[in-house]
Amino acid sequence: MKERILKRNQHEFNSSGGFVLYWMTSARRATYNAGLQCAVAAAYKHQKPLVVFEALRSQYEHASARHHTFILQGMKDNRDAFAALGIPYVSFVESEGHSGSGLLSQLCQDACMVVTDWFPCFFIPKMIDAAAKKVECALLAVDSCGWVALNSTERSFPTAHSFRRYLHKNAHRLCANTLSKHAPDEAHAWLRKECASEPAQKISAELNEKLRHFKGVSLELPTEEIVKKTGVPSSPRAVEGCVGGAHEAQKQWRHFLEEGLSRYASERSHPDLSAASGLSPYLHYGHISTHQILNDLWEREGWSPDRMMEPPNGRRAGFWGMSEGAESFFDEVVTWRELGHIFCHYHLENYASFDSLPEWAIRTLDEHSGDEREYTYTCEEFEQAQTHDPIWNAAQRELIETGIIQNYIRMLWGKKILHWSSSPREALKTMLYLNNKYALDGRDPNSYSGIMWVLGRFDRAWGPERPIFGKIRYMTSAQTKRKLKAKQYFERWEAHGQARLL
Ligand SMILES: Cc1cc2nc3c(=O)[nH]c(=O)nc-3n(C[C@H](O)[C@H](O)[C@H](O)COP(=O)(O)OP(=O)(O)OC[C@H]3O[C@@H](n4cnc5c(N)ncnc54)[C@H](O)[C@@H]3O)c2cc1C
Repeated sequence: MKERILKRNQHEFNSSGGFVLYWMTSARRATYNAGLQCAVAAAYKHQKPLVVFEALRSQYEHASARHHTFILQGMKDNRDAFAALGIPYVSFVESEGHSGSGLLSQLCQDACMVVTDWFPCFFIPKMIDAAAKKVECALLAVDSCGWVALNSTERSFPTAHSFRRYLHKNAHRLCANTLSKHAPDEAHAWLRKECASEPAQKISAELNEKLRHFKGVSLELPTEEIVKKTGVPSSPRAVEGCVGGAHEAQKQWRHFLEEGLSRYASERSHPDLSAASGLSPYLHYGHISTHQILNDLWEREGWSPDRMMEPPNGRRAGFWGMSEGAESFFDEVVTWRELGHIFCHYHLENYASFDSLPEWAIRTLDEHSGDEREYTYTCEEFEQAQTHDPIWNAAQRELIETGIIQNYIRMLWGKKILHWSSSPREALKTMLYLNNKYALDGRDPNSYSGIMWVLGRFDRAWGPERPIFGKIRYMTSAQTKRKLKAKQYFERWEAHGQARLL
């Protein structure tokens, strides 16, 4: 746990304060949560009540009905989960403007300590550091992002292979440090009693009273109504049939374990075979944890660390001693996912900029930046799915309607934006804008991994050298169509495009 804790200011635990505040920002769940467990441990050690505070701002880049709905559905699950755990939960949904400005400092006036979540991208690091300066007690940011504690690697990795070698070499330590569902039973039993006591109840009543001085929207209203009252743009609209929150995340995960895992290695890439987990929005918003995923996976596989097979040499399959499906899924949810989180953590200032690409990629893209292009589209044309290519348009329509693009097609989506933009830098801008505006899993370290991978990050140089791409890996729509089982997929999104024209 120690390696997950990042101290963000110079204050110490204020023992004359009345409570420990867990400010939930990105690990939005009540289980397998390192920040929550750290806050419970501090409360137990100092015999202070704990209050959980979860908020939703209305002014962030790409705020919309789509993202807000998903987050709010999660907040409702959390309200219920903490009620069941007997831990006070207070929430604040900001209405129009900056109605929540100064709220955290007010809430923390009598706090012993604030514990929050660490997340290595988007506005979260800046928000945490600004808060750390304002509060007058210790503020700790705790990293629940993945299996590997971000601070523990001391560096980022240039390729998935080099990160796999790290994972293999550190596998026993990592297994031993995997989080359990909750803080230890004795701390919980004590906390339940403490939080039910009269002084603790008084504290949460006071915090709720303070919240009333800020203009917010009640979480008790129907979600659609809350979204309207926050004033966030109504477009992109909420995704029909895709419900956010820990409850849905569990359902999706169980379904994948039963239906997808055994087919995952061979069928994941084929859109018509639906073998992928669909978990990325839930992982992004912290509605489910990698620690739970690994615990469940190991239990299902009857796995224990003695199944690992020497040598720890970074090979893609065969080290962990799990089934083919489980190893393949592990490689995505741990190797690829955490490769990107670690990169962002160690490159907080520039993970999204063109200059953060490997030198060879910048050189080759710049050398070919002026190459003649058969097709060029503006960001608006891409956004409206108005290219000459029905396969690309299908992917863009899927993104707009469902908030996600199927994993293999998503690579093609990015590669063709590079192919048909006026320059690689313009392509980067377009990908970031479209992905982060529409994708429910956008604004995540994985977003920057995927988009930057299109431009060469975590990849190697490929031959033959081609116009526009240079030595960057190349993909074509025709190849993709031939390779994938995707007939129904293309039919569905083509029909959708035609319906829009009618
Ligand atoms: C241009 C481009 C943009 C992308 N943008 C995003 C994004 O905004 N958010 C996002 O989560 N992923 C992004 N990805 C990565 C990948 O496409 C998605 O993570 C995956 O398709 C999500 O579907 P799933 O949950 O069913 O994945 P599964 O195949 O079930 O995988 C399980 C989990 O592993 C992780 N994962 C899977 N593939 C990758 C990958 N290639 N890189 C990093 N992690 C991975 C995800 O957390 C995923 O939920 C992008 C990829 C590309 C090429």
